Order: sequence, then C-alpha cells, then structure tokens
Amino acid sequence: MALASVSASPRLDAEVLLAQVLGTSRVAILADADRPLEPPQWEAYNELIARRAALEPIAYITGHKEFYGFDFVVDPRVLVPRPETELIIELALDWWPRKLLQANTIADIGTGSGCLAVTLALLLPQAHVYAVDLSRDALEVARLNAQRHDVASRVTFLHGNGCQPLPELVALLVSNPPYTVLAEVDQNVRRWEPQLALDGGAERGLAIPIHILRQAPSYLLPGGQLLMEIGAWQGVAALEVTQRAFPQARVRLHQDLAGLDRVVAVET
Ligand code: GLN
Repeated sequence: MALASVSASPRLDAEVLLAQVLGTSRVAILADADRPLEPPQWEAYNELIARRAALEPIAYITGHKEFYGFDFVVDPRVLVPRPETELIIELALDWWPRKLLQANTIADIGTGSGCLAVTLALLLPQAHVYAVDLSRDALEVARLNAQRHDVASRVTFLHGNGCQPLPELVALLVSNPPYTVLAEVDQNVRRWEPQLALDGGAERGLAIPIHILRQAPSYLLPGGQLLMEIGAWQGVAALEVTQRAFPQARVRLHQDLAGLDRVVAVET
C-alpha cells in the first residue's frame, strides 16, 4: 500500500481520501465497499494518494479539520488544528461561568484558522471575540470559518503583532502562539505547515510566547484569565516568565491528555 510507509493510519487515510473523491462519507464507502470506481474517479483518487504519499497533511488535501467537534476549513496558509489545543477550550469553558467580571470580551492572539476564536464564539453566545494574527492570509481563513459557523458578527479580525491591535482590555485572553524550535519540528510538519505559525524563535522557542506574555498584563482586565499553549519542554520556563509578568496572580500549568505540560494559565 502506497501509504503504509508514510502514515501511521494508512487505511484510514485511504478511506478518507476515497470519500473525498466520491463526495461522500467514510461510513458510506464502507457500506458500499464493492462498488467499482469509474476511471476518472480512479485517477482523482490516485492523485490524492500521491499527495499523501508525499506527506502532505490529510487536512490540507481534504481542506477540512475537525476541532472540538466543529468542522474547520484549512489550507497551507494556516496550521492544522491539533487535538491538544482543545485543552484551552475546556479550561475556558470551565472558567467562564465562574468569572466575576461583567465584560464578555475575548482575544485570541495568533488565531490561525480561527479554531479557538470561532469555537469560543460558538460555545459562549454572549462573547465578543477579537481574533488577531500577523498573517493576513491566516485571517482570511479564520474569517471564512467564522462565516461558515455563523459567528462572524461576534468576531472582529485584527491584523498585527501580538496583543497590540486590541482596541480594549479583555476578560479572557487565549493564544496558541508559535512555540517550537523549528529545527526540532518533524520534517513533514516543517515542510508543509506555515513557519510563521510554528517558529517560536530564541529561548528554545519561547521568545514569541514571552513577547505575548509580557504584553498581556496591559490588555487583560483585572479578574481576567489568560490561557496559552506551550511546548511540553517549556513548562518551568513559561511558569517563571508568566509569574514575573503577573506578580500578583495565580499562575499554573495544565497537562494535556498525554500528561504533558501544555497550557500556562493565569487568573488575575
Ligand atoms: N503543536 C504544534 C507542533 O508540535 C506546534 C504548534 C505551535 O507552535 N503553536 O507541531
């Protein structure tokens, strides 16, 4: 099988790609497994298999990725949403009903596909979300996702660096910034996904997260919450930097399902 040496789930990948060609679901093709393909369908299928064999992420080939149960449009202009990022949604949903603030403003710094901004807008109907990105290309994808999920009227898209474009202080600040050391990132991820979304710069990838963490106190309302994704190796350093940026606040780390440090949280 062409995908066996490149994918951990070759059969699943092949089924997803076949469903894409036939414009149907995986379940439907499994139920109708004996139906022969027409030659043009074969050709289209083999093209997709060749792209996957060249290690292109399946989400770029299909143009979709599920995040927190919602379907997001993705393409090489944005990072493919990762399941571990869902932890930020869980923590935000846990905190929101307990918040003592009147304000319902949220900022998502480095929104990419908009998976955090749009999911929060969907699940918190009173919220107004500012979705910020340095990449105008990414903002276009995020805008599309907000429109598809009917939350565009409650998401404001802002182009710029870190928290700077925010027009007001917010109750909740979330971010999945670039935090990797590019040279250490899986070759295939590096080859296909946007470098701007991955490369955290110096300090073992923590330079950009630190930049945002240092800005954050000026943009967060007293009583607000900050949730930022980090790399598993950055827990101790991120905790220290964050505590310094918010000397009065309660700062803690949260682990993902694999038990790895994944989110630094601040309750001001
Ligand atoms: N989790 C991603 C990866 O390891 C990185 C995401 C990021 O830098 N924000 O590929």
